[in-house]
Amino acid sequence: MSTTSDTTSIEDTDSSETVLPLCVPHIAGNEWEYVKECLDTNWVSSVGSYVDRFEADVAKVAGTKHAVATVNGTAALHTALMLAGVEPNDEVIIPTLTFIATANAVHYTGARPVLIDSEPDYWQLDPELLEDFLTNQCERKNGALWNEKTGRRVAAIVPVHILGHPVDFDAIYEISRGYDLPIIEDAAEAIGAIYKGRPVGGLGNLGCFSFNGNKIITTGGGGMIATNDERLAKKAKYLTTTAKDDPVEYIHGDVGYNYRMPNMLAAMGCAQLEQLNDFIMRKRSIADWYREHLEDIPGVNLQSEAQGVFSTCWLSTVEIDPDEFGMDRKQIREALLEKNIHSRPFWQPMHQSPVYKREFSVLTGVADRLFANCLSLPSSVTVTEADVERVCSAIGSLASATQNV
Ligand SMILES: *Cc1c(COP(=O)(O)O)cnc(C)c1O
Repeated sequence: MSTTSDTTSIEDTDSSETVLPLCVPHIAGNEWEYVKECLDTNWVSSVGSYVDRFEADVAKVAGTKHAVATVNGTAALHTALMLAGVEPNDEVIIPTLTFIATANAVHYTGARPVLIDSEPDYWQLDPELLEDFLTNQCERKNGALWNEKTGRRVAAIVPVHILGHPVDFDAIYEISRGYDLPIIEDAAEAIGAIYKGRPVGGLGNLGCFSFNGNKIITTGGGGMIATNDERLAKKAKYLTTTAKDDPVEYIHGDVGYNYRMPNMLAAMGCAQLEQLNDFIMRKRSIADWYREHLEDIPGVNLQSEAQGVFSTCWLSTVEIDPDEFGMDRKQIREALLEKNIHSRPFWQPMHQSPVYKREFSVLTGVADRLFANCLSLPSSVTVTEADVERVCSAIGSLASATQNV
């Protein structure tokens, strides 16, 4: 306030000075009450009624019979891959354009990712490339599917609902069904998203959610495995709780993991989940506002939503055409940062990553293009239409500045 000059209204100064973060948690419901109850009753750790309730509540959202809480989304994916029977030296199909946790979870099992490019319309794993890979580059032998080039067994597929927009699940299901491939959904960004009337996370054999701080709802850190298969759910609980075979004696029948979600965090999750619908509706409004206010700026296109799906619109993300716009996404990001507006690039595609660039891949250049040109814009559920206007007019002024020279 002290910098307010006579010629600038307080409002203007405020809006240009406030930091607009990319995506921050929103703690506005029963979080304090439920967490306090854990503290008051000493039920803070790895078991408790909130863990049971959060699991039941998430299963309801995913439309599955069971859900098992984990310490984070990566642990959920790692466990789900083990449950699907993925073994060392197998291959697991994932999109090349994803957060690195998807690939890391595959690596933890000792398997190798096969990287499939994205389709250009909604930026999800391309079912046509998947079909091409399975039919033309794999062979069936001894009851299993083998990658002809690498000689490794193809054991599972992990479609990712990128930015909370559902993948074309029916297409992926139709293709992989013929090969008996289990499907594990990486729904880390997509809790509450709907694909043709069915909730995501419950579409495949197993679905994984994340409750990291920047996701749709948060427990600070956390994850969940959803499934309709009771045997898999039981095994998930077993593996994530050190594979203890006896309620009293410390006898362990397998190499288990300490992947439990503490009760205190599950309490927060229960409170956050009560607000899920509000959060998603707000995220969708934010996307609508961006679409509206970016419409007249050449070279900027917001991610589209496919027919018949309901996206969480996790992060409103634009694809920049640098020639048309006059600046690339790096320059735009820096210019926005100078105006206290945070934005972020897409993940480096796995086939470009120093860690995974040697893995088998099926590429068309779409993920490269999206990585080069996409920028995610402020998308916290507290973002207002005025905030969106501020971001869009900042982008607009960059465009007109370059287009006038
Ligand atoms: C966040 C995320 C994960 C990992 O979840 P964590 O809870 O951070 O371990 C996995 N996949 C995708 C696509 C994600 O966005």
